[in-house]
Amino acid sequence: MRILLTAGPTREPIDAVRYIGNRSSGQMGAAIASNAIDEGHEVTLVCGPVSVEMPGVKKRIDVETTEEMRRAVIAEFPQNELLIMAAAVSDYTPVAILSAKLSRHDTFALELKATPDILLEVSDLKRPNQRTVGFSLEMAGNLHRSRGKLIRKKLDLIVYNPTETMNSASVNAVLLWPDGREERPDEMSKSDFAKLLLARSVELFTTEARRHGGAPG
Ligand code: C5P
Repeated sequence: MRILLTAGPTREPIDAVRYIGNRSSGQMGAAIASNAIDEGHEVTLVCGPVSVEMPGVKKRIDVETTEEMRRAVIAEFPQNELLIMAAAVSDYTPVAILSAKLSRHDTFALELKATPDILLEVSDLKRPNQRTVGFSLEMAGNLHRSRGKLIRKKLDLIVYNPTETMNSASVNAVLLWPDGREERPDEMSKSDFAKLLLARSVELFTTEARRHGGAPG
């Protein structure tokens, strides 16, 4: 299968040297990429500035900002069957970018605007033979927020991750499907979780899974 995978954070420049971003390491994306390669999938990786090593994929596009990631995903999506958005996209970007380095002041107010929602945009481009999988990092117990994103972004599967997952070696996730089903696997390593997620993603393409709106529970 041809899989388009995004990994790592995005960075939004504030001035010549500073940026806003989040603390994503890219570990989950790396685990998905290496398991997908082992299983014989063809992986195109759109990669933010990650701090872990990524496996050698068929095609890799390095990006920094959300807009760059958006352009790469929109360009590559038509050639792939499955999109897994494991990137921790920055939700905000500065309204104005300063080209020089800002000098230090006692206080400094930064105006931010929302970044383009890549998955939302992809949802309008999705053909019947394509599937999209998203991640949703939420405070513990906020599963309903993940479900909201699953529906709004017209995803076929979403992974709810409590915020503690960030930069941790293990995952304590819940998988959610649009038909209301949930799967709560035991806490496991990111590599084992990547294997499970790939299996569930592949199942999204089978007739049985389509009829029930996802993978067997
Ligand atoms: O940030 P949020 O919780 O909305 O992320 C949910 C999913 O949407 C993730 O898979 C993330 O990669 C994706 N996303 C996106 N474009 C954004 C923000 C998030 O595609 N601007």
